[in-house]
Amino acid sequence: MSKVIVITGASSGIGKATAQIMAKDGAKLVLGARRENLLKDLVQEVEKLGGEAVYAVMDVTKIDQVEDLAKLAMDKFGRVDVWLNNAGIMPQSLLKQKKIEDWDAMIDINIKGTLYGIGAALPYMEKQKSGQFINVSSIAGYMAHVGSAVYSATKWAVRAISESLREEVAQDGSNIRVTVISPGAINTELLESVTDKEFQSNFEDFYQNYGISADRVALTIKQAIDLPEDAAWNEIVIRPTKQA
Ligand code: NDP
Repeated sequence: MSKVIVITGASSGIGKATAQIMAKDGAKLVLGARRENLLKDLVQEVEKLGGEAVYAVMDVTKIDQVEDLAKLAMDKFGRVDVWLNNAGIMPQSLLKQKKIEDWDAMIDINIKGTLYGIGAALPYMEKQKSGQFINVSSIAGYMAHVGSAVYSATKWAVRAISESLREEVAQDGSNIRVTVISPGAINTELLESVTDKEFQSNFEDFYQNYGISADRVALTIKQAIDLPEDAAWNEIVIRPTKQA
């Protein structure tokens, strides 16, 4: 049976690559992000690749828009098999720069967006007695360095939320799987969210040397989805082979 997969942050990078790879498998995709033109193009591409897709222009920091994305999946396809909490930004900077807007945006998008996704999809998965959350953390969710304080904190939080969710649903005896995936340097539009010029330029050099394609992460996500449903891949770290 082809799965119904909801993806936040589907308009570019890892979210888009996952939609493309799952479309080849005939998946039914529900695509959410803010840039409508990119989502429209992706719906057409998914259909050419052999999948089905609908999209919603939505912001993960708005609980009603996240709930509506889940409702769209139910109205159109009748189920939510996988919810990929992928939308995220990475405006790293020094704490002493007090980039409060960036701090707030990272907390709202990376943490609250993930929580809202869980809140929206969990009731449907509980009724189905099955489903899978795939939450995108980062290797920055395992280590902090100069400038990564808030970003690392949000990605650490994604891991904490995921582990607590895993225990909660397992305790309920449901067949809901929880997977955290933590990528290293992946060439996407993520660097455009970095507002500090020096950090951006350092990242650009680093990614040019080490970054790998988003479809490597998408392939890994597919493997986690394809695993027989009585087993869950709980934590995945995927780095470019050459990234130290
Ligand atoms: P991209 O910038 O290419 O993708 C981010 C996606 O998130 C876009 O589709 C963007 O779409 C969406 N998005 C951003 N803010 C919002 C919002 N408020 N509401 C809805 N959608 C939003 O980067 P990646 O593909 O790299 O990022 C995906 C995830 O992977 C992020 O969580 C990131 O932290 C994580 N990650 C990435 C790594 C990398 O090296 N690239 C490494 C480790 C983790 P739109 O602007 O249209 O809303």
